[in-house]
Amino acid sequence: MASIDIHGLGKAYGRIRALRDIDLHIADGECVALVGPSGCGKTTLLRTIAGLERIDQGELMIGGRLVNALPPAQRGVAVVFQSYALYPHMTVYENMAFGLRCSGHARDVIRQRVQRAAGILELEPQLDRRPRDLSGGQCQRVAIGRAIVREPKLFLFDEPLSNLDAAMRVQMRVEFAKLRRRLAATMLYVTHDQVEAMILADRIVVMRAGHVEQIGTPQQLYASPCNRFVAEFIGTPQMNFVDATYIGRGDDDSADLRVDASGARLRVRCRDPGLRRGQQVSVGVRAEELRVLDGPEAMSDNVLDAELVLVEYLGDSALCHLQHAGRLTLVIKCSIVPAHGNTLRIGFAADGALLFDADGRVCH
Ligand code: ATP
Repeated sequence: MASIDIHGLGKAYGRIRALRDIDLHIADGECVALVGPSGCGKTTLLRTIAGLERIDQGELMIGGRLVNALPPAQRGVAVVFQSYALYPHMTVYENMAFGLRCSGHARDVIRQRVQRAAGILELEPQLDRRPRDLSGGQCQRVAIGRAIVREPKLFLFDEPLSNLDAAMRVQMRVEFAKLRRRLAATMLYVTHDQVEAMILADRIVVMRAGHVEQIGTPQQLYASPCNRFVAEFIGTPQMNFVDATYIGRGDDDSADLRVDASGARLRVRCRDPGLRRGQQVSVGVRAEELRVLDGPEAMSDNVLDAELVLVEYLGDSALCHLQHAGRLTLVIKCSIVPAHGNTLRIGFAADGALLFDADGRVCH
């Protein structure tokens, strides 16, 4: 196992600054996911750690050793790519053994390592099969097996489940979570699927345009995003945002702030927003924090009237898309979904929302 320490890392392709001033510490045995929109630099960062891209600026340490100039083969790193690229004419056993054979390992060492990897990945029944006789998920497990037999200090995964269909992806996600516990190795996992990251990783790094926006556990990123970009990126369905104008602190000496959203008075719990009266803000509310109101509370603050424009049935529950000043999404039981076009009175608790300033920074 190995820790990773990155200080001020930068990488450019001509004029494109793919990575800018990256600082990151990954502890020994930790599984960290890199997420972010297409082109934000996830793969470049992974390839840089693997030694497949040259570093322009900064320091990269693996296991406490500076590796900026070390060739990939000497870094103790194994990479599993999205395309599993197995040798079609070789069996599963031969595919996993090939790298070890090339590096001159003894036959019994190879057999022992392949058997162990096949056991971990539940591939023993497939060892004599060729890739054309395997499912996509099994092929991906063989690719992971090829990495395991090398006994690396560090595993790097670049979108390993992207080539699988939706059902296989869900199944492999579970397999992967189990594998993680069994290997107890340091792992860096690139994905554009934030659900995958939330399920698999100890911590998630959210990237945008070559730099790190926020690092935290899945729960931290979900509950306390540092800005609107992270709040939008993490969580399904996406956080709701209501545009509003800041009015001021409540006169009841509470910790709540008051904002005006197209005539609706809203309260948000916030200590020190650093805002001026009249400033534009947005109120962020997760779908599960929104409730349909029909009792006496329907007359109080934090109430919005919104028209139901679309319903997505998910089985037991449904996503209701509502139109207020912007779009709002709410999750309710299928049995109480109202008809399209109805106006719903919805509300949320002051401490169930976040306030963002005009630049998208969260107000504390
Ligand atoms: P995706 O999710 O689409 O794979 P990513 O977050 O992994 O995206 P990268 O592949 O790391 O993004 O690319 C980061 C930036 O660097 C992009 O602007 C990309 O176009 C650019 N880039 C990556 N590789 C090269 C290259 N070999 N030459 C020139 N530009 C590159």
